[in-house]
Amino acid sequence: MIKKYVQQNRQLVVLLAVFLFLLGWSYLAQYTSSTAISYSEFLAQVDKGNVEQITVKGENIHGRLNTPATFNDASYTSFSTYLPSFGDPELMSKLKQQGVQVNTEPKSDRILWYIVISLLPLLLIFWLIFMQYKRMQGQGGGLFSIGQNQARQYDHSQEKTTFDDVAGAQEAKIELQEVVDYLTDPDKIQDMGGKIPKGIMLVGPPGTGKTLLARAVAGEAGVAFFNITGSDFMEMFVGVGAKRVRNLFQDARKNAPCIIFIDEIDAIGRRRGAGLGGGHDEREQTLNQLLSELDGFEAHENIIVMCATNRPDILDPALSRPGRFDRRIIVELPSTQDRLELLHLYTREKQLDDEVDLDRLARETQGFSGADLENMLNEATLLAAREDRGSISHAEIEAARDKILMGLKRHGLVMTEGEKRMVAYHEAGHSLVGAFLPNADPVYKVSIVPRSQSMGATQQFPEQERYIYPREYLQDKLAVMMGGRCAESLVFDTATSGAANDLQQATKMARKMVLEWGMSGQFEHMALGSAGEQVFLGEELGKGKEYSEATSQAVDKEVETILRDAFDRARDILSRHRSALDDLAQSLLDHEEVAGEKVYSIAGISR
Ligand code: ADP
Ligand code: MG
Ligand code: ZN
Repeated sequence: MIKKYVQQNRQLVVLLAVFLFLLGWSYLAQYTSSTAISYSEFLAQVDKGNVEQITVKGENIHGRLNTPATFNDASYTSFSTYLPSFGDPELMSKLKQQGVQVNTEPKSDRILWYIVISLLPLLLIFWLIFMQYKRMQGQGGGLFSIGQNQARQYDHSQEKTTFDDVAGAQEAKIELQEVVDYLTDPDKIQDMGGKIPKGIMLVGPPGTGKTLLARAVAGEAGVAFFNITGSDFMEMFVGVGAKRVRNLFQDARKNAPCIIFIDEIDAIGRRRGAGLGGGHDEREQTLNQLLSELDGFEAHENIIVMCATNRPDILDPALSRPGRFDRRIIVELPSTQDRLELLHLYTREKQLDDEVDLDRLARETQGFSGADLENMLNEATLLAAREDRGSISHAEIEAARDKILMGLKRHGLVMTEGEKRMVAYHEAGHSLVGAFLPNADPVYKVSIVPRSQSMGATQQFPEQERYIYPREYLQDKLAVMMGGRCAESLVFDTATSGAANDLQQATKMARKMVLEWGMSGQFEHMALGSAGEQVFLGEELGKGKEYSEATSQAVDKEVETILRDAFDRARDILSRHRSALDDLAQSLLDHEEVAGEKVYSIAGISR
């Protein structure tokens, strides 16, 4: 406790130490230079006429002799002694008689010290308050700067982001180019009677480069860029967020032309009046302020407000009304071509082995965002550096990709032989079903290396990007998902908890097929409603289902039928190719990882 306090207030401790030292030193200084003698020795020297002068200060007497004398075997000329407490009325006349020069001083010159000492606590308190204040300022604002604008204004001359830094996202760039043109030459478009939207909303999954794009617009146009994140508006006090919004727009007006960018706007832009658990006064006030600021400025002010979100579904509809964020730009996950561009972009300054095939890598990174790809290549670089390699090989990239897809390897995990066999058969089941079914995505790799997210994994990658899913594809996919559980029941005549995730995903997909895609026998060509992937509390609770309880039961029945069919198809395949299943499982136990080609050769399928 004390130790911690000392560490936190080092300056204070040093100050105290210096103070104590000075106090002690001033005391000592008075005595070290002179010899302490007895009062009678002093009187004897006075009587001898050997005392030159003395200084009397209270009871203390200091003085000097004309010629050195000895006291207790020590020779001295400077001395100090004390007046007896009962006084000595004859002393003064003796001194006068001997012609000793007598100085008197007030009893103490420590008055100054008394003042300092009595003021010290006060000084300390002031000092502590000052330090506390400084510390709070260090931590983002502190009490005294609440309400001030949190937006960081980027100096565009320093780090200029341009569209060249953004790979892919072609459509978004084309749309945003208009904004750039407007900001660089606003009169041109206005003269032609054109109207530029003042609010632009970038919508897309995380890591697809929304923030990057916004910054690039500012960079291309060479205007100031006010960047603030939705959660920055939130403070502990109601009304602060609203004040921040006001200040932000004020600052922006002073710096026009400029771009205001509100990242992650869902933090404040969530639908009002929704949500459980008490009021959201602060958030709603902030949102209201934002809406009124958006309405309040005119197109000719040359301010473009951009925002980004990956949850457009939960935003308040008022935000996207005309005149506000009425232009919506979708930033998709990169396509194969985009991924190739991204890979080229991020390997520009990296040393790659010749064998690394970026085209192939682009095909085999379905569903990766720009940020994921960047992360993957960075991991690969670190791995290569750890192994003291001058360049990055395919193996490192592959390892990095697996880490992103399936999580970290768990080296410490010890599985029993029986558990390993179970996992091997489970994964072999998935991949064999995948290999045999014509409409399923090709099997890329199977692994039973335990990782943070699963005990094993089967990776499949489609040959091409898919934007629509035919029923046959979905049915095959379901059968592949069932392949794991199916192998368990076929070989070990049991079921394990390892299939939990498979079953969850399969059920979710089957529900979508019934409810949203009209793919079940009874509800063919009928969209009953949403399978409720991300239920937004509050909204969903008040709404209820769009269909009756009886229909609900029928839906469950249909889902069950679909899942049972999928399971039966998987079992059909696995029992017909039982020896391939055994071979693949054994191969997995031997090597932990088996490549897709090997899976097909074990299955006896030529591709
Ligand atoms: P978002 O805001 O959509 O979540 P970011 O813009 O923050 O994504 O992207 C995170 C990082 O990923 C960026 O800093 C950039 O390095 C990289 N990135 C993502 N998409 C792209 C892209 N299309 N081009 C270049 N880099 C990208
Ligand atoms: Mg972002
Ligand atoms: Zn599984």
